[in-house]
Amino acid sequence: MSVSFHLCQPGGGASCGACCGLYNFRDHSRAALRERLQRHGEALAGVAREPAAFRAAARAVQEQEKREALFPAVRICPLLGFLPQAAGAPQGERVGCLAHPRVTGGVDLRDCGVYRAEVCETFTCPSFGWLADAQARLVQAACADWYLYGLVITDVEFVQGCLRLLAWECGQEVAPARLAAHPAALAQLRALFALKEEAAERSAPGAQEDGGVFGRFRPDAAGEPQLQALDYAALGLHAAPEDDVVVCLGALPRSPEALQAARGRVRTRVRAVAEALLRAA
Ligand code: SF4
Ligand code: SF4
Repeated sequence: MSVSFHLCQPGGGASCGACCGLYNFRDHSRAALRERLQRHGEALAGVAREPAAFRAAARAVQEQEKREALFPAVRICPLLGFLPQAAGAPQGERVGCLAHPRVTGGVDLRDCGVYRAEVCETFTCPSFGWLADAQARLVQAACADWYLYGLVITDVEFVQGCLRLLAWECGQEVAPARLAAHPAALAQLRALFALKEEAAERSAPGAQEDGGVFGRFRPDAAGEPQLQALDYAALGLHAAPEDDVVVCLGALPRSPEALQAARGRVRTRVRAVAEALLRAA
């Protein structure tokens, strides 16, 4: 399997900046990240489009943000922001690189960020290799925004786990193209995928369920992402089909009640997609 189109800016309102560090904050809720991206744009507005000035402005933001990282070992680029709206383009926020030549008006300033420009230009995350085209197009259609799209497109296990649960619920594989063609089913699928966004809100500081988690990862002692797993022995429960999705949500359940509730949320939303599909048949 592999994707034959560019996942980062696929169009249709979807955009991603995950590998530039978009979500690498203890509070990675939509509201907190929107504010942060706006601040990046403001910090760079009016700065001369030349390396020394751009790098100095970037460093000032970077120093402050390093302290707020969820995974200190993973870089956060201060040059990520909301892209300026092109004349005549459909309305909507898009996350992207403010140092890219198409944004600066011609000069490539990506060397002023946290990687070399060559790395930024050529990097492709594992989703390019592990998702099928139809799966990626389905995520694009269901999550046509700057926040949820990046959370979902970068989590192959989550996408494929949701589709697997849906196949069980429907008693057969559901072709992603069939789902994408039904607006009501697509809206319910978005609600299923949005469990990830709700988990980010639940684990934001001040609203803690199980803070300090991103998807299936929590930081180890060196600040590197470490895979986390459900501790069935401590929970006194057996594995259930929903658990592959539950562990991808963040806010890892720490009690049997919390795990049962999380499974219930997943099950309810999967059923809603299946029912919408049935009604559309
Ligand atoms: S995480 Fe993947 S899809 Fe997102 S911007 Fe990076 S390479 Fe593109
Ligand atoms: S300079 Fe590179 S790492 Fe920074 S926002 Fe641009 S593409 Fe991402």
